[in-house]
This record gives sequence, structure tokens and C-alpha cells, in this order.
Amino acid sequence: MEAKIIILGGGPSGLSTALHLTRIAPHLTHQILILEKEHYPRFKLCAGGLVIDAEIILERLDLDVREVPHVDAQTAHFDFAGKGLKVRARKRPAFRVIRRDEFDHWLAKKAEERGIEIRQGVTVKKVIPDENGVSVETDQGEFRAEIVVGADGSNGVTRRCVFPNESVFTARVLEVITPDYSVLARRAKPDEAISNINNEIVSPRRHGDASGENAPRNDVAYFDFFPVPNNIAGYTWDFPTQIRGQPMRCWGIYDTNLLAGYKRPVLKEPLAEEMKRKGFELGDYEIKGNPIRWYNPRNKASVPRVLLVGDAVGADPLFGEGISIALGYGAIAAQEIAESFQRNEFSFRRYKRRLARSGLGQTLFARWLITHIIYLLKWKWFQILFWRMLKPIVLLVAWGFVLNWSKRNFPL
Ligand SMILES: Cc1cc2nc3c(=O)[nH]c(=O)nc-3n(C[C@H](O)[C@H](O)[C@H](O)COP(=O)(O)OP(=O)(O)OC[C@H]3O[C@@H](n4cnc5c(N)ncnc54)[C@H](O)[C@@H]3O)c2cc1C
Repeated sequence: MEAKIIILGGGPSGLSTALHLTRIAPHLTHQILILEKEHYPRFKLCAGGLVIDAEIILERLDLDVREVPHVDAQTAHFDFAGKGLKVRARKRPAFRVIRRDEFDHWLAKKAEERGIEIRQGVTVKKVIPDENGVSVETDQGEFRAEIVVGADGSNGVTRRCVFPNESVFTARVLEVITPDYSVLARRAKPDEAISNINNEIVSPRRHGDASGENAPRNDVAYFDFFPVPNNIAGYTWDFPTQIRGQPMRCWGIYDTNLLAGYKRPVLKEPLAEEMKRKGFELGDYEIKGNPIRWYNPRNKASVPRVLLVGDAVGADPLFGEGISIALGYGAIAAQEIAESFQRNEFSFRRYKRRLARSGLGQTLFARWLITHIIYLLKWKWFQILFWRMLKPIVLLVAWGFVLNWSKRNFPL
């Protein structure tokens, strides 16, 4: 089977590359083939937090993410041990939360409606570029393309084939799904549980120190950086989510591994501690884990005839946020590909520079720097200072470098 462009992986980065190509080079639409090893709707371990930049990129593609089942996190708290910054956006939620089986299935259907062919249930085994094209070996035979886009995620086979000896920076991540906070109110005796009009569940005995006005709320997303002084260079999270319409919470812990040289607790310990503080027992729920490959300026992004996008190049190191980032990589790769076909030249020499100069590249570089500051300055006093006392500076940095990058220096 032959195609001009084969995209390996039908997650957000691969689908975004295809959707952007249909936009900026419509004549290539029927020359694109996506190979995806699973069948949609397929499970993907991810908390599903979708920041404003993801929505901006989707809107530019005439896609409305509100068609996908979602819940809104009205406020995001960035805390150290339960106290810190509260962030709200004007006239919109702090961010939306989707489930990846539903989101990726929706995006794949949109790509198919726009003429993209997706072959599901095809696992890529090997990618071999040569002077004239690329051979893709799969469990269903060999495919041949003029160029290949490696969109196969953090552990992808494309990167391992084209950069077999590259050093890889990965974060450890665990995730757990529980019922939402109303379950605590139902479990507590009626005189202990008061659900007030702000959707706040007050259940003092079960919340430990997170009680009274600190009681957790169903419409809030919590990030807590209390594990950093114990050499977990990351945070715990606790988001609202939904599964088949049922309100739930998605919890997890993210560790960049930047402090891997120090003595660290078992990764699930701080997560168990945070859940206990809010009335949940980690042991009652199933834990799932997956690495995230994160962006480092040294990460390689292309060889002649093969481009990498999404986690295959690197997600945000600061939070492990990768959906908006994956959509952004797709836009830039599509531009690079469209120009390469115009010139009939496929070295992709300029791709990394194009990435670095884009709003995406700038935010990734800024986040990489900030990651090294806030996680390497791991002392408790610094974490308290940063998350509890430097609010204007933190908000300025977040506004200038972490969010709204898709509005700057960006194709389309
Ligand atoms: C626990 C956890 C929580 C997260 N939470 C968030 C969050 O809240 N918000 C956020 O923005 N990001 C989050 N992320 C990161 C986010 O999930 C990734 O950054 C994002 O999915 C990257 O998209 P991608 O398209 O590059 O890769 P993926 O989404 O991994 O897609 C890769 C695709 O390639 C397919 N594939 C892989 N190998 C092959 C093969 N050999 N042959 C064919 N197909 C193949 C896979 O089936 C998959 O469909 C989280 C990650 C984890 C692990």
C-alpha cells in the first residue's frame, strides 16, 4: 500500500497534523493515511485537562470541543500543602476536562468527515527511511510513503527507529478515578454532612485538615506541590471529570524525575496522602501508570523524510500537559510538510527551527526553564514562597509563558 503521507498514530498530534493539512494543503487530503493500532473509542490514560490553547487551535479548525462530553473546572488551585493560588478565567472555566476515549474518537470522526483515511487496528513495527521514501512495517504488511509523521506517543516506535540512541527525558505518572465529593457526604452521618449551595461538601471527619472553608469542591481542580521537598519533582492533581455522564474525580501524581538522584518515597505514597487528606483511600481504587516523554531543547524532531510530533518530541515538562501541545505540533508539522511538497524537498532541516520560533516552541522552552527552577529549588520555604506569596509574579509568568501561546507566532 502506498500513500504520499503516512501518519503513525491517531492521537491528538497525528489527527491535528492531518486536519491542518486538509486546511492548508487540501490537494494533499486524499494522499494522507493514518495508521492507528487501536480501534476508536480506545482507552488512553490521561486526566483530560484541556486548556484554552487547545480550544483556540480547534476553533481555528472550525471544531467545537463542547460537542464532546466534558466537565468544567471553574477554578484551579495551585497549592503547597492545601494552601496557595486560586486561578479563575474571565467568562469561562479555568479549563475543561474531557475523557480521551471520547475526545480522540470525536477528533478522528472529524478527520474522516474531511476526507482523511484512518486504518484502525494496524500496529507499526518498524520505520525505515531511505533516499526515496519511507518503508513502514506493520502487523498487516508493508506500507510505503514519501514522508512519515511519527505521532505515536511517548513510547513510540518511530522515534526509537530513527533516533535509537537518543537520551530520553520521561516523567512518571500515576492516575486514579474515584467518585466525586458528594460520595463523602453520603457516607458521612447526616448531621456531619452539609452540602451547601456552593457545591461544597462539608464533612469534617472525613476531610482531615481539608474541612470547613477549605473543604474540596466538585467544580475545582487542585494541583498540590507538597511532594517537591521530598524529591518528587512534580505535583498531585485532583480534577473533576465524568464517566458516561457520572460525575467523578480524576486524581494523580506527576514526577518529572528531575530529583531522581535523591532518596524519594514510593510514588504512590504522596498521592495516597493527598487522597486521605480529602477523605479517600487510594487502596480502594485501581491505579494506572504511564510515562510522559517531556520536551527538552535537545530533543530531536526530524530526519530526512520523517517528522515527529506530540509526545514523540516532548510534552510540557512543567505539568505534563500534552493535549494542547500535541494539537500545536500538528499545526506546525502540517506547514512544514505542505512547504516540503511545494519544494519537492524532504530533508525537514528547518522543522526544529520552525518549532523553536513558534508560540509553541517558545512556551515549551519557557516551561522547560521554569521546571528547572521550581522543581530544583525544592526546599519547603521556596515552595511556600512561590505558591502562596508570589501570586502576582506567578500569574504574570503563567499568562506570559504558559498559556495563550497559540495566539502568538502561530500558523493559521
Ligand atoms: C496519566 C496521564 C495524565 C495526563 N493528563 C493530561 C492532562 O490532563 N492534560 C493534558 O493536556 N495532557 C495530559 N497528559 C499528556 C497527554 O496524554 C499526552 O501529552 C498526549 O496524549 C500526547 O498526544 P500524542 O498524539 O502525541 O500521543 P498519544 O495520545 O499517546 O497518541 C499516540 C497514538 O498512537 C497510537 N500508537 C502508538 N504506537 C503505535 C504503533 N506502533 N502503531 C500504530 N499506532 C500506534 C496510540 O494507540 C495512540 O492512539 C497526561 C498523560 C498521562 C500519562
